[in-house]
Amino acid sequence: MRYIIRDYCKKYPNDQGDQNINEEDVARPTNHKWVKDRLEAEEKRKTVVGFPTYGTCSICWNSGPAYKKCIKCGVVEYQVVNFRDYILDSQKIAELLGNNHEVAKANRLQHWLHTETMNYRDDLFTLMLEVKHKHIKDEQERKRTIMREYRDFTTFYNEIGMPSYV
Ligand SMILES: [Zn+2]
Repeated sequence: MRYIIRDYCKKYPNDQGDQNINEEDVARPTNHKWVKDRLEAEEKRKTVVGFPTYGTCSICWNSGPAYKKCIKCGVVEYQVVNFRDYILDSQKIAELLGNNHEVAKANRLQHWLHTETMNYRDDLFTLMLEVKHKHIKDEQERKRTIMREYRDFTTFYNEIGMPSYV
């Protein structure tokens, strides 16, 4: 999926310059978990392209405004995550992982010249968990922590067919 969007900006009348986007303006799957194919019509109206407001950083898996550079890593942009035919809710992903979520600003101009999506990949996910928990010195404890987080996460998505390779 590819779209070209320029100068998309949501302005609020009383914005002092750095106002967070209102919760009701956030487009996300209505069940806050996933949605098949595209956002529902109701949610679609909130965006220019029918894409969710938030995406996920493929390195640290924090969530933030889609197609804005991750503030933590500074390398890649938050991207909308697909798993098979589903769009996964990026806020939920961050919540499941206890990760940070960067709230979108209402007045921020977004130049969405390219809007690629990111496919869920087991190897990327596992790599992120290894980096996230590398501060745990005890190897057994580190492995247990990674395994538990891996299992909890993939189990949450079992319903839409995500396998757990352990
Ligand atoms: Zn990141």
